[in-house]
Amino acid sequence: MSATRRPLVAGNWKMNGFKGAIAEFRAVVAAVAGGGAGHAEVLVCPPATLLAAFAAEPRGAVGVGAQDCHANPSGAHTGDLSAEMLKDAGASAIIVGHSERRADHAETDAVVHAKAVAVRRAGLTAIVCVGETRAEREAGHTLDVVGRQLAGSVPDGATAANTVVAYEPVWAIGTGLTPTPADVAEVHAMIRDRLVARFGAEGQGIRILYGGSVKPDNAAELMAVAEVDGALVGGASLKATDFMAIAGVY
Ligand code: PGA
Repeated sequence: MSATRRPLVAGNWKMNGFKGAIAEFRAVVAAVAGGGAGHAEVLVCPPATLLAAFAAEPRGAVGVGAQDCHANPSGAHTGDLSAEMLKDAGASAIIVGHSERRADHAETDAVVHAKAVAVRRAGLTAIVCVGETRAEREAGHTLDVVGRQLAGSVPDGATAANTVVAYEPVWAIGTGLTPTPADVAEVHAMIRDRLVARFGAEGQGIRILYGGSVKPDNAAELMAVAEVDGALVGGASLKATDFMAIAGVY
């Protein structure tokens, strides 16, 4: 947490949700309007099929985002969506480099970098995900791996407005396992140091989210860790009450 960085609580719905799920989104909007997120910014990233409908809702300060994009603005890329198209549908931010994309679609740091450039080109905020696997952590390589992903995935010229970093240990995603606060603090401190070394004052302003099994009952502890500026929430973002219990720590 920081006095100068506004916390961000972002929900990543992944491949979940049909039209009826707009009821959960509306419940989030109502809770945020009622002050349920305190001073935090709230973003919901539904599947792309729901993005335009969510964006068209009266939603106050609640942002909507996308989960991935193609690096090109348009063209012969069947099934893909450009950052510009997602912006047109109402997105203000796009997650890039989620570990499920890196694993399921063999996305390298170079691919993620190109997508982050595309997000910026469209004038949106890239939420760039990094994180080690269980084997990498057990081998003591966490800081090396995360540092390498960060260097390779975040483009030059990152600012507090165009970039958010999400540290998501792969082994903590969807497993109910979380790193200790000390482990989170160690990784976030390294990320902050690298961002400041590379981007100066802007690096100080870039928000670093923690993600991986953030739940209502562990959110306060995780969000209190130094240099944790909010959460990227998967499973617990699907239910408005759970998601708002997390955002409610702010
Ligand atoms: P989880 O997912 O909260 O379900 O662990 C987090 C994420 O993948 O962003």
